[in-house]
Amino acid sequence: MHDLVVVGGGPAGTSCARAAALGGLDVLLIEKDVFPRDKLCAGALTQRVTGLLDFDIDPVVERLFSGGRVYSSSGDCLELRRNKYSGYLVKRAVFDSFLLDKAKDAGVEVAEGSKAVGVEQTRSAVRVLTLGDSYKAQLLVGADGVNGTVAKQVGVRTRWKSDAVALCIAADIPIEEDEINRCMSFSDSDDSIGLDIHFGVVERGYGWCIPKKEELNIGIGCRMDKAANLRNRWRAFVKRVEEQKGLRLESPRYTAFRVPFGPPKNAYVARRTMIVGDAAGLVSPVSGEGIFYAIKSGQLAASVACEAAEMKKPYHVMTYGSSLTKTLLKELSAADFLAEMLHKSIRNADLLIQIAQEDPIMREYFIDIMAGTRPLEQVKRDIMKRMATNHPLKALKLRF
Ligand SMILES: Cc1cc2nc3c(=O)[nH]c(=O)nc-3n(C[C@H](O)[C@H](O)[C@H](O)COP(=O)(O)OP(=O)(O)OC[C@H]3O[C@@H](n4cnc5c(N)ncnc54)[C@H](O)[C@@H]3O)c2cc1C
Repeated sequence: MHDLVVVGGGPAGTSCARAAALGGLDVLLIEKDVFPRDKLCAGALTQRVTGLLDFDIDPVVERLFSGGRVYSSSGDCLELRRNKYSGYLVKRAVFDSFLLDKAKDAGVEVAEGSKAVGVEQTRSAVRVLTLGDSYKAQLLVGADGVNGTVAKQVGVRTRWKSDAVALCIAADIPIEEDEINRCMSFSDSDDSIGLDIHFGVVERGYGWCIPKKEELNIGIGCRMDKAANLRNRWRAFVKRVEEQKGLRLESPRYTAFRVPFGPPKNAYVARRTMIVGDAAGLVSPVSGEGIFYAIKSGQLAASVACEAAEMKKPYHVMTYGSSLTKTLLKELSAADFLAEMLHKSIRNADLLIQIAQEDPIMREYFIDIMAGTRPLEQVKRDIMKRMATNHPLKALKLRF
């Protein structure tokens, strides 16, 4: 019997498994795919992600970015950048394999190509059933993403509500490195790279164009209940990017994937079981950032699992909910408020872009959201104060 079985080998699962193994537990990680596997993602990591890791990610960073360009529905551009680098761009197939290797290095046993299909909770253990095998453990972590099975099996969730999950369509389109440098750098005289975010292409969401070394990730995503005709809107968006950047792109093959975004009122714990990362809906609804929350929640669950093992009290996993509340859920609540303000209507986004164009302090607050440089509770408070004191008439026009 293992101390801990982790289902899912994304950033949440590998971070949880590594931290638990380093804490002395006997850990098995079950992953349905064989790595390297692709995962639809823009692959933008804020600097706080590296602050969570006890190793360097330089070997898998494709590029650094130092800010972004945010476009309104009429195409006006708001430049958001600081002199320091804001974050890293990675390919998920490479990044996730790297994290899985780090879990193996810490002593985690990994069963790849092994899909969990059932969970049995008994008084003395938990058993995970896969196609062809079964694994027994003291504790279980569900890190199996937005389409995962563990949360359903243990009764934490039946399905996502359509207003708590977004549908995204995107493609990684190969382009020469020089072309990417030309069309994604901030100016001809400076080679620092920016990410593009476009409002107005969908309701309750946005479009993006994000570079890797030799690929552009071009996508759109919006709340599921606003996602009618998303494929055609994505094609129209790719055309818009081609025209704006003077590119001719091969007809790209797209992938669709869902991303959950709370609101942070979900259940996260069941008997002997904790749910982490996307499987728990821990993604920022304002920016779509999920990797930070996946790693952080995985590490929190690992720390609770180590305490439970030491105390020989499996029900100690119940404290995982309160550790999330003290840390990530406060932040995600603020993100939820900011998302309502920014994504509620296209007019709201246009108005906020206009305010930030006129007001350098508001621009700094938007950079904080994009770069994850300050806790979102603080950013929310500062934005509210600034709107009330410096932009009261525009604030009244925002729809909530
Ligand atoms: C289009 C798009 C763009 C995004 N861009 C960004 C971005 O730029 N930056 C950012 O921070 N976040 C981004 N996100 C969010 C980010 O991808 C997720 O938040 C993050 O991957 C969550 O990690 P996770 O480990 O919880 O889940 P996942 O990465 O989804 O990993 C879950 C793992 O579990 C495995 N699994 C699933 N079911 C089973 C099963 N039954 N048995 C065994 N294994 C199973 C899967 O194969 C997978 O490997 C984006 C998401 C989307 C959809």
